[in-house]
Amino acid sequence: MLVSAKEMLTKAKEGHYAVGQFNINNLEWTKAILLTAQELNSPVILGVSEGAGKYMCGYKTVVGMVNGMLEELNITVPVALHLDHGSYEGAKACIEAGFSSIMFDGSHYPIDENIAKTKELVAIAESKGMSIEAEVGAIGGEEDGVVGSGEVADPDECKMIADLGVTMLAAGIGNIHGKYPENWAGLRFDVLDAIQQKTGKMPLVLHGGTGIPADMIKKAISLGVSKINVNTECQLAFADATRKYIEAGKDQQGKGFDPRKLLAPGFEAIKATVKEKMELFGSVNKA
Ligand SMILES: [Zn+2]
Repeated sequence: MLVSAKEMLTKAKEGHYAVGQFNINNLEWTKAILLTAQELNSPVILGVSEGAGKYMCGYKTVVGMVNGMLEELNITVPVALHLDHGSYEGAKACIEAGFSSIMFDGSHYPIDENIAKTKELVAIAESKGMSIEAEVGAIGGEEDGVVGSGEVADPDECKMIADLGVTMLAAGIGNIHGKYPENWAGLRFDVLDAIQQKTGKMPLVLHGGTGIPADMIKKAISLGVSKINVNTECQLAFADATRKYIEAGKDQQGKGFDPRKLLAPGFEAIKATVKEKMELFGSVNKA
């Protein structure tokens, strides 16, 4: 059964480790992540972006697939199904469809509007026993990708959003989605520290987990990050393994064209990536 992310993240914050959110795109992705979590006895959060939700035919299809797998693969570790960077409408649709967790990303709204909408969704999520993640927008400085500093949040705004009763809070600390630029300035630990000072026990979320060096990840966890989102890294691993299979001509040997064979190396590559991340984040045997 799907669970809210609240308990697993509260335990993670207290235990100084982080739970991985791994985004899913299809059956292979979902199966690879769930099986790895079970093998490593780790809690896990399955992330679904609105685009991926559409790709998988809608949120109800996703809920059906994930619930089916939990039962048929005998998954007993805590699993949350979480909307990633949800719009206000998307968040409501996922609540209806049977997700166990949502993110409302109101970071592009002015802070007052972000607060009003977050408040409303917190009340709904609470009444349904779901967890809810909010995001605080960036503050000044960067010129649309010209400098490699990423988004940096204002600790006071973080406190305002945290006080609305959200379960976990995403705040920019110089992290970037996708691949990091050559000139990336690194994570802003001073800002992270200030955010944690102001938000106390609130589990903090680090987005854009792909390509952040391991020592920075560990330091971020020590400063209160309890959830780390991984998406691009699984995509790169899957693409790379699939490319190798094709380039080696294996799809043209015997029944190598069978999708169950063709997609197997990518599936194994996702499993290896998820394992590596769970070990780095410290969530192994924390189910
Ligand atoms: Zn994100």
